[in-house]
Amino acid sequence: MGVKIKYKVFCVGAVLTLLFVAACTHPAIKADILIKNGTVYNGMDTVPSIVDIAVKEDKIAYVGSAGKVQINASKIINAAGLTVSPGFIDPHTHATNDLVNENLSDNKPFLFQGVTTVVVGNDGSSPYPFVKYAAKCEEHGVGTNVAVFVGHGTVRKMVVGSSDRKATQQEITKMQKVIRAEMDAGAFGMSTGLFYAPGSYSDTDEIIALAEVVAETKGVYDTHLRDESTYSIGLIPAIKETIEIGEKAGLPVHISHIKCLGVDVWKQSDSIIAIIEAAQKKGIQVTANQYPYNASATGLQAAVVPRWAESGGRDSLVVRINTSGQRTKILEETKINIARRGGPKTLLIVQSPNKLYEGKNLEEISEIHNMPPEETVFKILEDGYAKIASFNMTRYDIANFMDEPWVVTGSDGGSGHPRKYGSFPRKYNTYVKQDSVLTTAAFINRSSAVTADILRIPNRGKLLEGYFADIIIFDPATFIDKATYEDAFKLAEGLKYSIINGKIAIDEGKYIGQKNGTVLRKK
Ligand SMILES: [Zn+2]
Repeated sequence: MGVKIKYKVFCVGAVLTLLFVAACTHPAIKADILIKNGTVYNGMDTVPSIVDIAVKEDKIAYVGSAGKVQINASKIINAAGLTVSPGFIDPHTHATNDLVNENLSDNKPFLFQGVTTVVVGNDGSSPYPFVKYAAKCEEHGVGTNVAVFVGHGTVRKMVVGSSDRKATQQEITKMQKVIRAEMDAGAFGMSTGLFYAPGSYSDTDEIIALAEVVAETKGVYDTHLRDESTYSIGLIPAIKETIEIGEKAGLPVHISHIKCLGVDVWKQSDSIIAIIEAAQKKGIQVTANQYPYNASATGLQAAVVPRWAESGGRDSLVVRINTSGQRTKILEETKINIARRGGPKTLLIVQSPNKLYEGKNLEEISEIHNMPPEETVFKILEDGYAKIASFNMTRYDIANFMDEPWVVTGSDGGSGHPRKYGSFPRKYNTYVKQDSVLTTAAFINRSSAVTADILRIPNRGKLLEGYFADIIIFDPATFIDKATYEDAFKLAEGLKYSIINGKIAIDEGKYIGQKNGTVLRKK
């Protein structure tokens, strides 16, 4: 009897012990990185939570309280007092050439802003072919992930040339073939630059026909509008054209760097928002990106020289400007375009082969040459490509667009404008902390998760288990842009950590020389 009872007690004890062990010790998680005590914005919620995040290989392995599970991590980051966020996704950059240059492919200007994925190939101009570009990126490695759009202008130039004419049916079929091949290779969509030559020479039907191919491959349409001002069809008709393309081709449309450019269209943001939201109600997916600056950047020629004068390319323009009959007309229209942007004082030359011009506005340069501003333009262009910062937006429209849940952050970052180095921290510092246009959560969600959804980039942009570990940690007190119009090449400050594909690139505020990005391919 005594033995039997002892046996029973033993059995009950063993079962209880097993239950106790099962309840208390979950299987331990072996992780590479554990981020503890941070204020975590996951990309979706409107409020942060204090949770821990474990990273294993290239994925997020756990999100929750580290006290509830056993996590063995080789690196522990104490993020107490810091903001933890999904890495930012920049839907519009001009980092194309940097990423294939071994010395610049770390992509530091973006990396230090907290960007972990950049898009290239915007404005209708893309690297071609995708496969070759991707291989070049992979040769030296890239500091951020990169997603590529196929540029309509690039394809049109190859198939139709640089002339101001409609594409034939045969040429459209040929362009469709090229675009389909690029989509199949991994492009995320097609971009257009309908303001620029040769994109401006195409009509809406051509774009719809090409966008249909993009729709079939589940891509998106990204556009630099035909007109952001009153140059040709006008800003509102250009917005309507984009919506029509989305509706007829059956794909999501994304308006790049949405703005009201120039005094003629200031305060049209209210009407534009109403038009876009009406389209959204009809089921058309219309979204936009925006950079937080009141000056745009573009080529001096693109900004003020009439498009018809450029037809045939640069050589043809030189011939026309030297032909007396055409010269007068070109100068007259150039003068109107300068006025539209706010006058010669608002056009700052930020880049030119002639260093004398850099940092001076068109009015100052025209005084140096003692000739009218419209003639000075061609004097400047004699030295080659000149880039300008053009102060042409109002705060009213900027804040109005920024407030919309379908407007995400996009730098449009290219050399010479501070936005390449500062867009994301500037939006945080100026429009979240200083002016309270946005909450921190709205800023983060519309710089990560919403952008990933718009671009249809899977498994990135959110801090969720199973997602790729693209994570940034910044100090909310010091995260700030440092680049200015005078010194546009200053890295942002305040980013403490950047983790891309599970690997650290910025550690305690310092870049550690690791290129952890990858070329994303649309599946
Ligand atoms: Zn653009």
